[in-house]
Formats: sequence, C-alpha cells, structure tokens
Amino acid sequence: MSLEKYKYYVGGEFKEGRRIDVVNPANEEIFAQFSEASFEDLNLAIGKAREAQKEWRKVSFKERAKLLREIANAIFENLKNLADLETKEIGKPLKESLFIDIPLGGECFNYYASFLESLEEKRIKTDTGESLLSYEPFGVCGVYLPYNVPLMIFGFSCAGSLAAGNSLIIKPSEYGSLSLLELAKYIDKLDIPKGLINILSGKGDTLGKYLAESDVDLISFTGSRNTLQKIYQTSSKNPKKIICELGGCNPTFVFSDAKRNSCVENILGSSFLKSGQMCIGTSLVLIEEEIYEDFLRELVEKTREITKKIGDPFLPDTGIGALPTREHLDNLSERVKNLEKKGGRILCGGKPLNRKGYFYPPTVIELNKIIYEEFFAPVILVKSFKRKNTEKIMEENPTGLVLQIWTEDLKMAKELAEKANVGTVWINTFGQISPQTPFGGTKLSGWGRNLGSFGFFEYVQIKHTGIGIKGSPVEGWFGID
Ligand code: NAD
Repeated sequence: MSLEKYKYYVGGEFKEGRRIDVVNPANEEIFAQFSEASFEDLNLAIGKAREAQKEWRKVSFKERAKLLREIANAIFENLKNLADLETKEIGKPLKESLFIDIPLGGECFNYYASFLESLEEKRIKTDTGESLLSYEPFGVCGVYLPYNVPLMIFGFSCAGSLAAGNSLIIKPSEYGSLSLLELAKYIDKLDIPKGLINILSGKGDTLGKYLAESDVDLISFTGSRNTLQKIYQTSSKNPKKIICELGGCNPTFVFSDAKRNSCVENILGSSFLKSGQMCIGTSLVLIEEEIYEDFLRELVEKTREITKKIGDPFLPDTGIGALPTREHLDNLSERVKNLEKKGGRILCGGKPLNRKGYFYPPTVIELNKIIYEEFFAPVILVKSFKRKNTEKIMEENPTGLVLQIWTEDLKMAKELAEKANVGTVWINTFGQISPQTPFGGTKLSGWGRNLGSFGFFEYVQIKHTGIGIKGSPVEGWFGID
C-alpha cells in the first residue's frame, strides 16, 4: 500500500526532505510519512516571511479580517478530513477532534476577524497636543505547537498573531503534524501573500532548536516546561519575547457540600478526555476529609466503568483512545511504577493494556502526601484535605494554569478564586473556554495570554506618536528668545 506523503510549506511552496514514518497508535501500522525541513529551509522561510510581513503589516484591519475568515472557512469546509487525520495520527477519539478541538481552533480565526472589524487605534488628548497609539506587529513570529491539539493551538496562537500583522513560521510537533500540513494545502488556495504562513515539520531537537536560535522577532510557545527551558537557552543567541503556554499540576478541590453527580462527571471528563492529555485537565483531586472514603469509592467505581470505553478512536462509542507513541506509553508506565515505589497506591488501572496499540487505562493513584505533578496522561492523583489547609495547598503549587473548585458555598469559592495565583479558576464547571476568554498560566505554567482582546495585544508592540499642537513641555525652559 502506498503511503500518503506530507510536504512542508515554505514561501507558498510545498517541499520535501528526509521522510519520517507516521504510525497509527491504535493499530501500530505506518500509514503516512512527513518530511523534515532543514536548517536551510528554515532560513529560506524566515526570509520569505519577512518579505510577506512587510506587505501584511500595511493591510488594513478590515482586509486582515477577510483573510482570517477565509482561514476559518478552510478549516470548517475540510473539518472531517482534518479531524480524521488528527485522530489517526494522535489516537484521540474522533468525536473530540471533530466536535471540540478543531472547531475551537477554527472559531479563533472568526473571533479575531470580528475583533479586527471593530478595532480602532487610540487617540489621547494631552496638555500640549495629541497622542496616537498604534498597534505595531513584532515581525516574524515563530510558533511551536504541542502534539495533543495541533489545530486548536494553531487557532489559539496564530489567529491573534496574524491579526496583529505578524507573519508566521509554524513548527508543529513531530507527533502531531499531519492535520496542519493538510490544512496548508487549503491555505495555499487562498489569496494570501506567499510566505505569510509557513509550516515546517521536523523534530524538536533539530528544527525546533534552529527556530529558537534564529532571528525571528517573537516566539509563541505551547508545550512543556522542559522544552521551554531549552528554548530559553538557545534563543538567547538572538533574544526575543517568548509568549509561553505550559502545562502544570491542576488541582480540583472537592468540598463536602459539592453536588456529587456533576462533580464526579466533571472530574472524569477533565481527567480522562484525550486520555488525560489536556493542559487544562485535572491532575490532582483533593477531597475534603469528611467525604473522602465515600467519594473516592464512587470515583474509582466510575473510572472502572469508563475503562470499558477504551477502544478504536474512530468508533462513536469510544471514550478513550490510544497514546500517540510507544515511547509515551513506556514513559508513562515507568512514571507510574516510580510513584508506586514512593508510596502511591494504585486503586485502578496502572498498567498498559495487553493488546495491539498504545492503550493505557484510566488510572487513579492515592497519594500518601501531596505532590504537584502533571502526568499529561490518563492518570489522576487523589488525596484527602482539611478545609483549613486549602490556601496553603494552593500556594505551595509551583504551577498555576487551572484550578477547579466544587462547592455549593459560592461565597467561599469566590474568596478562594480571588486568592488563587492561577490563570483560570472554574467554580462548579470545567472547560468553560472560548475565543473571547483569555487563556494562559502563572508561575511555572508560563506567562502571556492567548485568546480574547488580551491575546491580540500580546502580539503587538504599542507605538506612541505624539503630535505637538500647543508647543512642547520644554519650550521656554531656558528663558531665551
Ligand atoms: P513538548 O514541549 O515536547 O513539545 C512542544 C513543541 O516543542 C513541539 O513542537 C516540539 O517539537 C518542540 N520541541 C521539542 N523539543 C525541542 C527542543 N529541544 N527545542 C525546540 N523545540 C523543541 O510538548 P508536548 O509533549 O508536545 O505537549 C505537552 C505539553 O504541552 C504539556 O506539558 C501540556 O500541558 C502542554 N500544553 C499546554 C497548553 C496550553 O495552552 N497551556 C496546551 C497544550 C499542551
């Protein structure tokens, strides 16, 4: 059977390099190949992106909006095809790719189109004249995408950056490149400056490293802290702003008065959708001590129930698919074993499934003391807590992406939300996220925001032009004629 071959996209042309096999994680069969872009390709792309950006920055907000809508249309018109590819390459259920991940990515382009249509640059009257504030793009923006939701994060980071007048060099993950490379074919058909959007596939420690070292003007990174540390070091050769969206240990506090059904359902969803490979997902479930035993029993029982939903990610009844590679599966098994050695008690799951494909069951591990760890896998850590310790537990978390609070005491929940040093707090809900609402982390979860108006201003530098009307503040200072 001939394999589908995906090329990378540089300066409006599709190019080929050394080929890398792509394995379907649900059946371990090679089904496609993508090409690895070289250092020379990257330099060519940066040159093309610079030329295109000089034109793009002059395009009016209304005209930019038109292109953004066309990109959104290209995503929605090809949704099924793109979703099939994300699922086949990454192993997550098709219903997630089709109904959640890719549509949300597409909506970001529509949102920033509407945003631009009503955006006006500011004028401020001062004592001596008038000040104009204009939104200047940085130039060429290097964008790193993670493997779990490539087209969603394409929307989160690239829609705002393009709206702001930047051109893009996009580096998808080597474990999740195909949907974006496929989208490049549809983008290529649009009336778009050649080189405005470049998509270069390749490995992190080669192509990713070159991009960090390069003289692009801005980096938007979504991925792990470990990689950010490397990018930070290599990018110092050509220092630039890095907007970074990392993961973290997201705690979910369950208070004794929480509405039980809704709380359990949301913990299951936030822990095990995408096999737990969600930056916003629950990492640590903290259950108030009065209800601990009973709540935990129910949580474990229901986790066992959803274990029956593991299977072929293309079937509509499948709730949990495969992990993307053998390496991810082995790594996870190792981490779970290590935690067990340190006193973690496995209450369900805990071992890869004995079948073809990289399947790991939903796993609940009871801790003997709180640790703040992101598994980014179908594993949750559970521990009881005392109400009086809530703030201390929040403060000791070195990361700050998402916090969930489950209680009927909204006054207490809002007080905790105010004190929490995190990017997002969800009270009695999960996944309330849309292109209008800013998203990002604090502490070791990163800095900068994507989405919403704030997600536009991250990608511009504000220029102040002062026009003198009634002289200037220094006229007459020296008292000479
Ligand atoms: P990763 O850090 O391994 O990879 C991210 C990107 O960096 C990829 O494109 C990869 O090729 C590249 N890369 C890898 N090594 C590199 C190197 N040495 N130099 C330069 N680039 C390199 O992350 P991942 O495993 O793809 O994604 C999982 C992580 O991403 C989790 O921590 C998760 O929480 C986080 N995440 C965060 C968000 C968010 O919006 N905050 C969204 C999704 C995922």
